[in-house]
Amino acid sequence: MHWRSKLIHHQAQAPEGFRSLTPPVYRGSTVLFNCQANVCNDWKTESSYSYGLYGTPTVLELAARIAELEGARHTFLLPSGQAAILLIYLAFCQSGSHALVPLNAYGPNRELAAGLLKGLGIDVEPYDPLLGANIESLIRPNTSLIWCESPGSVTFEVQDVPAIVRVAHAKNIPVALDNSWASGVLFDAFAHGVDVSMQALTKYVGGHSDLLLGSVSVANEELYERVGKIWRQMGQAVSPDECSLALRGLQTLGVRLEKLEKSAIEIAEWFTKRDEVESVFHPALPSCPGHDIWKRDFTGSSSVFSVLFKSQYSAEQLCAFVDALKLFGIGLSWGGVQSLAVIFPKLDRPGKDHYRTHLVRFNIGLEEPIDLIEDITAAISQCLK
Ligand SMILES: *Cc1c(COP(=O)(O)O)cnc(C)c1O
Repeated sequence: MHWRSKLIHHQAQAPEGFRSLTPPVYRGSTVLFNCQANVCNDWKTESSYSYGLYGTPTVLELAARIAELEGARHTFLLPSGQAAILLIYLAFCQSGSHALVPLNAYGPNRELAAGLLKGLGIDVEPYDPLLGANIESLIRPNTSLIWCESPGSVTFEVQDVPAIVRVAHAKNIPVALDNSWASGVLFDAFAHGVDVSMQALTKYVGGHSDLLLGSVSVANEELYERVGKIWRQMGQAVSPDECSLALRGLQTLGVRLEKLEKSAIEIAEWFTKRDEVESVFHPALPSCPGHDIWKRDFTGSSSVFSVLFKSQYSAEQLCAFVDALKLFGIGLSWGGVQSLAVIFPKLDRPGKDHYRTHLVRFNIGLEEPIDLIEDITAAISQCLK
């Protein structure tokens, strides 16, 4: 053979039998079949492969591991948490559908509802996250999906998910949960009746602020078919390299969450004793709306919470405070190893406009709490006089 042909059709091979503790990164678009009779193009790639779009072994290993952790029938992976949210809407809503989403849901979820989905004729109505079983009064004949996010983004209200599930299931409406804060492990979505559980794997599973991935886990066969069909059509393949990083992240999720929980509670409790602070919204503290439900339903807490500062300070002082923090980066997202702090100037909480200036969301990282507290103390004495 010409050497150019040899570049493609080679005899040389690495020896077999290599065993590593690390799952290999399989890249591939085309999948080879043994013979023409075996050519298939089925999205149910649990026992066979058809095309890279539907997963390589690296991708399907991550999906299977998330499904195992969450106790799901199956987990679909998407390139981001936001794409996972879109998949759930598209699987359960069509033109003319009504969906309910908590007011404190992840901002881009609300943005999607008011933008793309509205344009498709899907009516997404925000609801008070603390409604519990009273959500019944908002259900319409065309309600096809109820979202929960517990605790909610930025303000951390904990929802009575089982109560919402009871009302929804009585009317045959599926319930989807954004389970990112609990990383799919501190709240057992399926044991509490949820039908579809999604996560931004970007956060704790990734764990190092260097990847974007989302997961959609389904409770049963019927939902597997329903969500799977739409997932296939969306063409949202994930990179095996990202999945490999997420698989690495899973190995240390346990120790990271344990340390983050301890540090976050220590710092949140410290804030409750400060004169400058009005309230601390951390699900594990009694000052957080829904704390009793958190105690009933969750097995732990994670690293993100918010602090509401007293109204005697100006918006400029609060901005200066965030800027003065040296160990806290100013950034969105969370779940990595570095501490972050941020104010949300566009936060939409009816009757609570001061949250846009006086609420600071903290993500606690793996630094020692004593250093973080020293940093916060210095920024407070410099800016909040
Ligand atoms: C970050 C986040 C998402 C979106 O995840 P991305 O991977 O960043 O798109 C969804 N829900 C919640 C609650 C989040 O915090």
